[in-house]
Amino acid sequence: MNPFSTLGIRHDIVNAITELGFENPTPIQEQSIPVLLSGSNDFVGLAQTGTGKTAAFGLPLLELLDFEENYPQALILCPTRELCLQITNDIKNYAKNMKNAQVVAVYGGANISDQLRQIKRGVQIVVATPGRMLDIINRKAIDFTQVQFVVLDEADEMLNMGFQEDIDSILSTTPDDKKTWLFSATMPNEVRRIAKKYMTDPFELTIGTKNTGNVNIEHEYYIVKARDKYAAFKRIVDFNPEIFGIVFCRTKIETQEIAEALMKDGYNADALHGDLSQQQRDKVMKRYRDRSLQLLIATDVAARGIDVNDVTHVINYSLPDEIENYTHRSGRTGRAGKTGISIAIINSKELGKIRHIERTIGKQFTKAEIPTGFDVCEKQLFALVHKVHNVEVNQEQIEQYIPRIMDEFKDLDKEEIIKRFASLEFNRFLEYYAKAPDLNISADDRGFDRSDRAERPMRSGANAGYTRLFMNLGSVDDFTRGDMLGFICNHTRISGKSVGKIDLKGVFTFFEIENSAVNQVLEGFKSVDFQGRSVRIELAGDRDSGGGSRHGSGSYRGGSGGGTRWEGGGGFRGGSSGGGRREGGRSGGGFRDFSGKRRDDRGGGNSGGSRREGGDRRRRI
Ligand code: AMP
Repeated sequence: MNPFSTLGIRHDIVNAITELGFENPTPIQEQSIPVLLSGSNDFVGLAQTGTGKTAAFGLPLLELLDFEENYPQALILCPTRELCLQITNDIKNYAKNMKNAQVVAVYGGANISDQLRQIKRGVQIVVATPGRMLDIINRKAIDFTQVQFVVLDEADEMLNMGFQEDIDSILSTTPDDKKTWLFSATMPNEVRRIAKKYMTDPFELTIGTKNTGNVNIEHEYYIVKARDKYAAFKRIVDFNPEIFGIVFCRTKIETQEIAEALMKDGYNADALHGDLSQQQRDKVMKRYRDRSLQLLIATDVAARGIDVNDVTHVINYSLPDEIENYTHRSGRTGRAGKTGISIAIINSKELGKIRHIERTIGKQFTKAEIPTGFDVCEKQLFALVHKVHNVEVNQEQIEQYIPRIMDEFKDLDKEEIIKRFASLEFNRFLEYYAKAPDLNISADDRGFDRSDRAERPMRSGANAGYTRLFMNLGSVDDFTRGDMLGFICNHTRISGKSVGKIDLKGVFTFFEIENSAVNQVLEGFKSVDFQGRSVRIELAGDRDSGGGSRHGSGSYRGGSGGGTRWEGGGGFRGGSSGGGRREGGRSGGGFRDFSGKRRDDRGGGNSGGSRREGGDRRRRI
C-alpha cells in the first residue's frame, strides 16, 4: 500500500502527489498528517522550509474540507507573495484530480480585481499575505465566518515583517472554534506568544531540534581581512564552477554594490532587495529560478520565502545581526533532502559571532581556507575538461565542418590537441591568478588589522556644513542630477543653493543638504510617493554604519581610500575587460554569461510609470 494511503490520504490525492514524485512522506508529513487529519487539534510544527510542510498541512485540508460547498473554509496566511503563490500552486497540484477544489492566492503587488473576482466565484481555500488579505476583508469582499482551519505558515517571518496586528485583525473575523495550525522555522518568544494567544493545548511537533539548522547543511567560515573580502568571495565562487547560490548582504546598498561589481566582473549575478519594484523582483527571481542567474545577491527581507530547490551554496557576505536570520538564510540550501553549504566570510573580530551561531544552531562550523590562485586554476581546468568530455555534439550540424577541422589539426597528435583546447581557457585563469596573494588570515591573528579601516562607513562624510542623505530613488527611475535637484526642491521648498553634491546611483541617490535645511528635507519627504512608491529619505550615516563590511563609494573601481582590493582588472571571467568578452554562455542551463549583463536589461529597469506596489510591500522594504 502507498505510504500516503496508510497515513489516511485518499486515492485521487495519492495519485496526484505520486505524479509529483512524492513516494514516501517526509518526516514532518509522516508525523503531522495523522494528527491534522483528525481535524480536532490546534497544532504547532517547528520545521524549516524545504521539509515538505506545505503537503503536511495541504493534504489534510483537502481531506477535511467540504468541496461541495463554495465558501471559504480554510485560510492560509504566509509572509510573502512568492510563498503565497508556491503554496497555492502546490495545493492545486495535490487537488488536481478533485472536482471542485478552488484555491485562491491573495497577495499584494498584483491586480486586486482578479483576486476579488476569484473569491466571488467561490473558493474553499484562501492562501494570503496579511496586508492584502486585510484590505479585502476591509472591503467586505470575503466572509470568513465559516472558516474551520487557519494555517499560519512561516509564523516567525510574518512577525519579523511586522504583520502581528494585521494577523490579529484577520483572525478576529474567523470563528472562535476554528483550529489553528502554526508552522515556523524558529521559535522565538514572539511566536511562542502568538501560539499561546491563538491556540488551546496545541499538538507540538519539532522536526530537528529547536532553532536548529537543517542536518543536510554544512557550515563553513573563512577569515579574511576586510579589504580582501570581495576578492575572497570571488575566489570561493571561482573555486565552485557549478555554484548556484544566494549571497546575503546586510543592506540594500551593499546588495546592489556587490551585484553590480559581480556583473561588471562577468559573473551571472543580480540583486534582489526592497528598493526594486515588484516587477523587477519577479523578473530577477524568474531568471534565478530558470538558472540563467548563477548568483542571487539578496537582503534578508527580500529573500524571505525564496523556495528554489537545488541552491548549492548560501554565502553570508555579511553576517546577519539576528542569529535567527542565519537559520533562515542557511535554510535556503539543503532543501528537499539535498545537501548544501552555508558559508560565512568574516574578519577575525567576528569569530565570536560564529561561536554564538554554533551554540544556537547546535552545529559546528568548519574553518575553511580561501583557495589559492593555483587551486582555483586547477578546479576550473578540470571543470572545463569535464564539460568538454560531456558536451552534447550536434552531429548533423558539425559534420560539414569536420573535414576542414581535421585538416587544420593534421599536424597535431591527440595529446597536443587536448593540451591546446585546455589551454585556451586555462591560460586565462593562469594569467588572472598569476600573482594572486594568499587571502587567508589565521584565527589567532587578532592583532592590528589595518584593513579594518576599510570597514568603516565612508559615505557619511559630507562636505563641511552639509549632511549626506540617502534617497531610495535613482537613475533607474529616470532621474538625472537636474531632475533630482528639482524633485528635492519642489517637495521641500528649500532653495537649490542648500543642496550640495548629488550622487545619483542605480536604485538610490546620496545627496548633501546644508545642515540647517536637513529637517525641512526630512519633513518634506515624509509622505511623498513616486509612481506608487513611498520615497524614503535617511541620514546616509545611519544607513551605512553598522559594523559590517562596507565598500566606500567608488572603492570597487578605484580602490580609493583604502577600499576593497581588486584581483586584477575586471575579474577573470572577463566581464569588463572589453576585448576578451564573449557573448552568451549556454542559454537556459548555462551558468556563465560572459556578456556582462548590465542594469538596463533587467526587468522593469526603466520605471516608466509601471511601478506598483501592493499593500504588503511597504513592510518588506
Ligand atoms: P516545502 O517544505 O513544502 O516547501 O517542500 C519542499 C520541497 O519538497 C518541494 O519542492 C516539494 O515539492 C518537495 N516535497 C514535499 N514532500 C515531498 C515528498 N514526500 N517527497 C518528495 N518531495 C517532496
